[in-house]
Amino acid sequence: MNESHNPPPPERTSVYCPYCSSKTQLEINEGYRTTNTHPPIVLYSDEFPVTPSPFWKFWQIKLPKKAREGSIACKSCGRTFNVGLFPYDQGNTRYSPDLNYYLSVKKSDTPVEKRFLLEDILDWISRFFGVKYPFNCFLLVFVFYVLFYVIPITAFGGFSKLLHDFMFPSLLFLFTLALILLKKHCRMLRKTLEMERMPLLLSERYKKSDQGKQYEETLSGFIFGHPYRRFKQPTVCGLISVFIYSMWHIYTVLNVNTTAYESPYTGFPVYYTSRGAAVMSTPWWFLIYFIAGNLAWFIMGTTALVGLVARHTPLKVDPLKEMGGTEIFGKIILSSTYLGVTLGVAVPFAVMWHINQELHVLLIKVIVVAVVVVLILFGFFYPLWPIHKKLRQEKKEKVDNILDKISLTSIEGKMSLEDVVHTHLLLDVSNKISSMVEWPFKIDTIIKLISTVFLPFVSLIINSLIFA
Ligand SMILES: [Zn+2]
Repeated sequence: MNESHNPPPPERTSVYCPYCSSKTQLEINEGYRTTNTHPPIVLYSDEFPVTPSPFWKFWQIKLPKKAREGSIACKSCGRTFNVGLFPYDQGNTRYSPDLNYYLSVKKSDTPVEKRFLLEDILDWISRFFGVKYPFNCFLLVFVFYVLFYVIPITAFGGFSKLLHDFMFPSLLFLFTLALILLKKHCRMLRKTLEMERMPLLLSERYKKSDQGKQYEETLSGFIFGHPYRRFKQPTVCGLISVFIYSMWHIYTVLNVNTTAYESPYTGFPVYYTSRGAAVMSTPWWFLIYFIAGNLAWFIMGTTALVGLVARHTPLKVDPLKEMGGTEIFGKIILSSTYLGVTLGVAVPFAVMWHINQELHVLLIKVIVVAVVVVLILFGFFYPLWPIHKKLRQEKKEKVDNILDKISLTSIEGKMSLEDVVHTHLLLDVSNKISSMVEWPFKIDTIIKLISTVFLPFVSLIINSLIFA
């Protein structure tokens, strides 16, 4: 095998396996000038190559024009990987904006741009007010809170409402916290989704290649948005969330007190918001739901990415390490669980508006919160389950292998010093492997998970007490 640093330039009819670097022939009739191999995030079940995904599947990798992709098995090691096929040269100027953007990630080149709208807004806040993280998160929510919530409600006579419901400032703090956790999660993802830190079974040669670098970019692109998308997934989800809320908001505006100025709060339960305040507070609610949509995407995206990678990409398990070297997956998922809990805590506040506290309303809220908590737990265990299975299997195989080498009859009989030392060593190693945790996290993570996952219920109880 050629031991040079760079893999040979891609050829039309064959590709190199990312796991073992052996050459595999492509059985295709059409001519492709550029190929790109990577471990599968999604596996294509159709015949190779498949047609690109339809435009509405915004979470899938969008390929440049006329490009196709598919999964093939390596002839040498048997593992499956994906191949992207591009019918033109990387240097072809006619297609270069497309393809070069897709393939432009090289060792030293500029990374593919993966920022999403909410991050841009936070940066702008930082520059405009001269504040740093996490104060920019607070300022963004605070500015909207004052301009589009406190001022309109006060101006339109609903001051009593502002004083009465202390959940309004809690939304301010809750969504500031959500933004801070979101930024923290993004930072962690950007630092963690690297080939060197992920326990993936990739050849050194592939890791060092341009294609390996592109794969690395695809991993974070799966969550942050692909370079091809004008609107990144977090932003799309934020906008969908705002759109869904806006239907409710329009309904509210049409049905609240039609007088522009409302009389002070007198009884309960009543609609006591004037139309003026409802209209003027629109940007505040849109911001809240936009942030919530972004959070929802990061929870779904993180869960899906870890789940899909763990399922479809061969993992490199080191049985001598405490968690087989897979603890990074547990770390990523725990961080995304915190986002889920924040959203879960916000749910009782969100379903609170304009509804009374009759028993059936309370029941609905309990069910909604219970579903959210179940989803959070599902989002935690679902992606880690395939890793757990792999760790358990690897542990059993390795321990069995070692114990097979120790024969009981020779221990019972007379052994040479060399054999005694060797047997001791084998027993030590097998004990070490037996103590390996079969999950990509330790008990402290479970304590953190359990102590946070009940917060949405606490929030529900507080909410119910306020209106009891
Ligand atoms: Zn192979």
